[in-house]
Amino acid sequence: MMRKTYLFIAILLLSSLTAFKLESKDNEQIVILVSLDGFRWDYPDRGYSPKLKEIEEQGVRALTLQPQFPSMTFPNHYSIITGLVPEKHGIIANYFLNPITGDTFSLRHAHVSQSKWYKGEAFWETARRYGIKTAAYFWPGSEMDLEYRRPDYFESYEHERPYRTRVAGVIEWLKLPDSLMPRFIMLYFDETDSKAHSYGTDSKELNQGITRVDSMIALLDSGIKDLGLSERVNLIILSDHGMADISSERIINLNDLIGNNSKPSVYNYSTMAMIDTHKDSVGILYSRLKNNENRFKVYKKDEITERYRYKNHPYLPEILLIADNGWQFVQNNQTSKDRLAAHGYDNKVLDMQGIFFAKGPAFKKNYKCNTLNNIDIYPLLCKLFDIEPLNNIDGNLLNIIHVLEE
Ligand SMILES: [Zn+2]
Repeated sequence: MMRKTYLFIAILLLSSLTAFKLESKDNEQIVILVSLDGFRWDYPDRGYSPKLKEIEEQGVRALTLQPQFPSMTFPNHYSIITGLVPEKHGIIANYFLNPITGDTFSLRHAHVSQSKWYKGEAFWETARRYGIKTAAYFWPGSEMDLEYRRPDYFESYEHERPYRTRVAGVIEWLKLPDSLMPRFIMLYFDETDSKAHSYGTDSKELNQGITRVDSMIALLDSGIKDLGLSERVNLIILSDHGMADISSERIINLNDLIGNNSKPSVYNYSTMAMIDTHKDSVGILYSRLKNNENRFKVYKKDEITERYRYKNHPYLPEILLIADNGWQFVQNNQTSKDRLAAHGYDNKVLDMQGIFFAKGPAFKKNYKCNTLNNIDIYPLLCKLFDIEPLNNIDGNLLNIIHVLEE
């Protein structure tokens, strides 16, 4: 009996010692989340991204990362960081209007910093409640005008900021003393999105862009190694959406479709169009569009396909048009010559799928898995930090937990 008690006390002591060791700050894990805008699911197999290949062997690679609808940049970065679908987090497009007040959301700094648009809770807000420091070197929503809704450290978006400066900025954060060092860091590069839009997905310019962002991940990883932090850093590389080539041969002219009899307001996103018109003329306009439904889908707002999980947002216009993959809406038959690829289509389309790569102490090694859903990243981040996700999120840890070491 006595012996058993001693043994029990010894085990207690031992386990509290281990707990102490794990909790001491300089052993805590760090998570770095890198977004490569528009990096389509199949780009890593082109042979232009040796660093991603290496991460694939050392860690996890998913077949694809599925975006939310619409497969656009702001809605998806905010889904990744909140675990919510766009109808719930409120960022329903890169540009939209509050029909009651007339206020617009756009990618201009004056708009992206207005916290009123962003619903739910970004991971950096959740982490803050647990005293975990966070930092963003560019991430949609990270520049909000309310101090308590931002990461502890953030940079205001500057498109031209050199990529090496961004990586160096992250390394500087990692050099901070443990009490100040952010344990969750986000980093963003636009290159693969921009190059595909301008030159198409089969261009040498895009392939060079793939190499360029890949070399930035290599630079970041070697910086982490030089700081002796490799054993502590979990590195996640993902993208917000994929990309599809478009062509002047595949256009849908909105003017022809809508006609002149009603005077609706039309927001053309090229892959999607939002049409608002007086309640009395919705029926007529809808029938006209429905009769000409070719290479696109037309929906009244309360009839939008359930799986898009989109129709419940109060700012949606009366009618939504979604182009088929590779087709684009134009006005007056005008296509823009410097736009050769697009995204924003049905989020299940293969071309719209992104990437998910991860390595580090928490992740399985040399592990391949099927498609992951980007709303499951937020609960995954909570799991990595052992904190509780916000209630009522759309993501589910159970869908993604298999990427972690047991
Ligand atoms: Zn884009």
